[in-house]
Amino acid sequence: MSKEYLKSISILYVEDNEDIRKSMSLYFKKWGCTFHVATNGEEGLEAFRKKKPHVVVSDIMMPVMNGLDLAERIKKVDPHAHIILTTGVNEQDYLMRAINIGIEKYVMKPIKPKILLEALVQTATLIMHEKEMEAENCFVRFVLDSTPSLMLTTTGQEINYVNKTLLQYLGYDSLKDLRSNFTKAEDLFRKIVKNPYPGVGCDGVVSKIMEEPHINHTVYLQPGASGRGAKAYSMSCNSFPELDRCIYAFTDVSRIESERRDFEQQAVTDGLTGMYNRTKIAELLLAELTRARRYSTVFSIIMFDIDYFKEVNDVYGHEAGDGVLMALTELSALNIRDQDILARWGGEEFLVLAPETGLEGAKNLAQKLKEKIEETSFGNLDGITCSFGVTQWNENDILDSIINRADQAMYAAKNGGRNRVETL
Ligand code: GH3
Ligand code: MG
Ligand code: MG
Repeated sequence: MSKEYLKSISILYVEDNEDIRKSMSLYFKKWGCTFHVATNGEEGLEAFRKKKPHVVVSDIMMPVMNGLDLAERIKKVDPHAHIILTTGVNEQDYLMRAINIGIEKYVMKPIKPKILLEALVQTATLIMHEKEMEAENCFVRFVLDSTPSLMLTTTGQEINYVNKTLLQYLGYDSLKDLRSNFTKAEDLFRKIVKNPYPGVGCDGVVSKIMEEPHINHTVYLQPGASGRGAKAYSMSCNSFPELDRCIYAFTDVSRIESERRDFEQQAVTDGLTGMYNRTKIAELLLAELTRARRYSTVFSIIMFDIDYFKEVNDVYGHEAGDGVLMALTELSALNIRDQDILARWGGEEFLVLAPETGLEGAKNLAQKLKEKIEETSFGNLDGITCSFGVTQWNENDILDSIINRADQAMYAAKNGGRNRVETL
């Protein structure tokens, strides 16, 4: 504790006895503190409102308004006000009331300046610590408010701070407004977390977040007050058990997330035709094989290849060839059902996966595609045809076996004169 702290505080001294007032004023000014005086409770209250002193030292027995009434009125203006009472009346009643009002200290009269000095140094030290803490809190709030992440802190489950970014996102003007709608973090999360993990409901995600706070979760949040679409956020939670505090932060990862999805899309898409590539259709085929085995469903595949395509390139050039590939893909995609999947297997070779379709149905589909292609002129190129190989899943199939069969059927169609459908 340092008497130096006295220099940083202002004192309001309320005392009806002029001699005491004067001598105390002289004594404390020597210690460098700002010292205001008042002669009774009413004056004291007025001075408190005007001067906003750090500490009020007041006598109890005074005319007009006594010290206890003054203390009570001051506490109504500022519940955190520091008040020291001085009195010659050592009565239990006064003491009890003083304690109930929240008086900080009690100094007996006749006042020994050293004792009052000690009380004031203690209070000044407390005030300095409060100031330091407030400055620290201010700094922490400033840091939290300046971050672009949405942040909130909780004590137990209760929300006790929400940074500006989150308030703005939610469209609230103040923490008070927000707390009139949500007091618990979990309730707020249930309101704003949107797109859940595949197969997990919104409540499931929030439970997951609450149960596994140490894990960073990727969540989608409802469009904010600005009304844009739901965006991906990485959610983290840091807990400080010694302070009984948790800090939740939502960091916008929508750009990374959409880039990731773009890359994922690129990895499974054929650049020229925009259809699934071989890797993706093989993956889907494997999944369909598993499904068919487990649920005893049926499916078929159609492999088809453009006839004499080398000639198209040779005669009309590679670009014209590309044009045919794109147009033929478009035509084929238009003529299959929604649940059928068309993919570019490679070069001028395509594959259709037809779920819930037996050999006969797939053969009809292939026949239809064959006819559509045959009768279409691609640019000014007539006579483009394809050869089709069709096969149905059987229970001993693995990926290679079903593909090989479709391939063999297609080669049978080539060998049989092209522009044909063969089954196997
Ligand atoms: P077949 O009836 O036996 O299938 O004869 P084909 O000429 O179609 O078969 P071949 O395998 O001899 O030639 C395939 C041709 O397809 C050769 C290749 O240049 C062409 N091709 C493969 N991919 C592309 C592509 O992306 N763009 C273009 N323009 N041509 C391609
Ligand atoms: Mg070919
Ligand atoms: Mg080929």
